[in-house]
Formats: sequence, C-alpha cells, structure tokens
Amino acid sequence: MARGSGISQDELRRVNLSAVLARVHASGPTSRAALTAELGLNRSTIGDLTAHLETLGLVREVRPTQTRGTGRPSHLVVPRADVTVVAIGLDVDRIVAALVGLGGVVLARRERRHQRGGHDVSAVAVSVLQSIHELLALPVAQRCLGVGVSLPGVVRSDDGLVRFAPNLGWVDEPFADMLQQGLGFPVRAGNDANLGVLAEHLRGAAVGVDDVAYVSGGVGIGGGFIVDGQPLRGSGGYAGEIGHLLVDSHGRPCRCGSTGCWETQVGENHLLEAAGRLPGGGPSAVAEVISAAAADDARAATAVEEVAEWTGVGLRAIVNLFNPKVIVLGGVLAQVWAIRQDVVIRSMSATTLHALLEQVQVVPAGLGEDSPLLGAAELAFERLLADPVGQVARVRSLEVESG
Ligand SMILES: [Zn+2]
Repeated sequence: MARGSGISQDELRRVNLSAVLARVHASGPTSRAALTAELGLNRSTIGDLTAHLETLGLVREVRPTQTRGTGRPSHLVVPRADVTVVAIGLDVDRIVAALVGLGGVVLARRERRHQRGGHDVSAVAVSVLQSIHELLALPVAQRCLGVGVSLPGVVRSDDGLVRFAPNLGWVDEPFADMLQQGLGFPVRAGNDANLGVLAEHLRGAAVGVDDVAYVSGGVGIGGGFIVDGQPLRGSGGYAGEIGHLLVDSHGRPCRCGSTGCWETQVGENHLLEAAGRLPGGGPSAVAEVISAAAADDARAATAVEEVAEWTGVGLRAIVNLFNPKVIVLGGVLAQVWAIRQDVVIRSMSATTLHALLEQVQVVPAGLGEDSPLLGAAELAFERLLADPVGQVARVRSLEVESG
C-alpha cells in the first residue's frame, strides 16, 4: 500500500480505490473487516472507499443479518456483476464470446465454429462483431465497458496489432482496431497464453503463486509466465514463445519458418498423425486418441507416449530457465499429462537440475479450456481496476455523447 509515500491525496485515493476493487473482483464478496486487515488501512478509510465504489455503481454493500460474537457485524462488499466486459477467445477452429461481469462471472456465452486453415481477417472480424452484438443486446449488458480478445499469435501489447498468427495465416493485422471501429468501445487484444496465465493466477490453478508457467497446446504451443508475481511481457509484449524453442535440429518444419520447434513434436496435429489419424480434427480428435491410448490401442498409446516424452523435454527448459513453483498445462498437454504423467516426469527429470525440479508442481489448468477467454476479460477490466473513478467518468461521457 502506498500510504505515506509522499504521493498526492488524489493519487493515494486512486490507488486505494483500485486496491479495494481489485480485491473484491478477484475474491468475490469480502467483508469490510477482511479488507481492513488485508489492505493495511483503517476501518473508517475502508468504509469511505467502499461507499465511494458503491456510489460509482461498482460494488454493493450488504449488511449481514447474522451477528457473530459481540460488536457490530462487518458489511459485505460485493462486486456488481452487471458491470461487464465482452471477452473473445479466438482460436483456430472456433470463436467463443462471453459476457463477463465484475467478479469474473460468465453471464452469457456464444460459440461459433469456423474452418481450420487460413482465415480472412475481415470475415473473422465480421463474425466476432456479430457475436459481440448478440451479447450486447442482452439486458444484462447495459453497462459494458469494453472488449478483450485472446488470439493464438504474437500480439503487440500497445495496440493489439497481430504481428504473426501462423495458424490463422495473419501477419501484421490490426485486428483490435478493426473491431473497435465497428463498436465504438475500447478493444484490447493479447496472446492467448499470456492471458491464460493471468486467469490461472487470478482464479485458476495458481492462485497466490508468484512464479507460474502456463503452457497450452493446440495446433501450436503457447507459453505465458508470471515471474515474481508479475506477468513476463518482454520489451514489445512478445515474451513466452516457448512453442518455437528448438528441441530437434533435424526435426520437422514449423509454420514459423524454422525446423524442429517444440510445437512440431507436441502439437495436436503431430499427435493425431502419429496415432494414424488425419490432422485438423481439433480437441475432440485428440480426446479420442487419448481414450484409445487408455484402452490399449497400441498405435495411439505409442503416439501419446512419444508426445509425453517431448512434453517433458520442453518443460525441462521451462524449469531450468524460470524455476517456476507451478506449471499449469492446458489443451493437448493437459490431456497427455492426465494419462502419461509418469513419462513426462521421467523426461523432465533427465536433465533438469535436481534443486529446481524438486520445487515444481505440474497441474492441469484450473479453468479448463477457458483460461485464455477469462484472461481476455481481465484485459478488458484492467483499466477500470487501475482507475475506477476515471473509467466510470469516461464511460459516462461516452453515454452522454452517444445518448
Ligand atoms: Zn516454430
């Protein structure tokens, strides 16, 4: 807490309002007493801040009916789920759109399939805008603040420019701008794994953990990292492209232009082909291979074992580089882990330094396939959480302009 650090009263108030709102957004209904204890502020200050957030329409204060022990019961501060954002999870074979309320509640959800392979960016934008408009037409969407988009590619953090999304066939596409022009809302975009790790850290399998690696497998492999409690971004926001780590210099060509990248050994199409299936079947075809391997289909079992072995090879590099406490696996990697963690661990142990290995825990994603989608919602909530007064004023001025 910034108390007493010599900043202005206005700035101090912004920081404190931000801290209270972020806390109830992350944890749900929280008593004033718990906020007082956790944020290191006195009771009257907390009461004043929560009253201000209630005036802004961001929280509700609920007086508890039951009293415990002596003294006055503490008010419960509840985030208002009717303050919403739209989250878009854009993937190679589907577009998921969700209306997400403050507190991380998914209020409504729409899903569209699209063909795998290269995608015309304008056609995808039209499709995404249709999903957004469907959600915005719902009565609960009246206080929507903006849109966050998760994409499988290298996305510039400043402006959401998609620098390179090989599995969509996009190079330097201003996708966030295209949506924003059609909407009049702020639209922010980010890499799916970078957003996935945010959501897993906030509400998933790595809550309260300061050093987290999130690695998710689909057609490609994405990596997102929390280092010492902070997201690892890199100078342009591009850090974490672990799928293009060289693991086999004599390996297969990769869509990035190189050969022998990690994702050519553990991506879902490689698993499908190794198991004698056609590539392109997506998560359902992967699930079918996993079931077949568990049911003693020899070719499927060998394919899964091989992918498990290579999964361990990539995880070794992650452990040695980042010394994470928790590695969260998503997509095909989580599915392989579920049935062959013995092979993954054996492969990881081969060259990982013992001291690092004994500290790390590998777990499947706590939010399942939704981690990037919920991370996209967090991207859209970010400005509100950083400056509640400023953002509410901005939205009201937009309402006045458009109304
Ligand atoms: Zn590559």
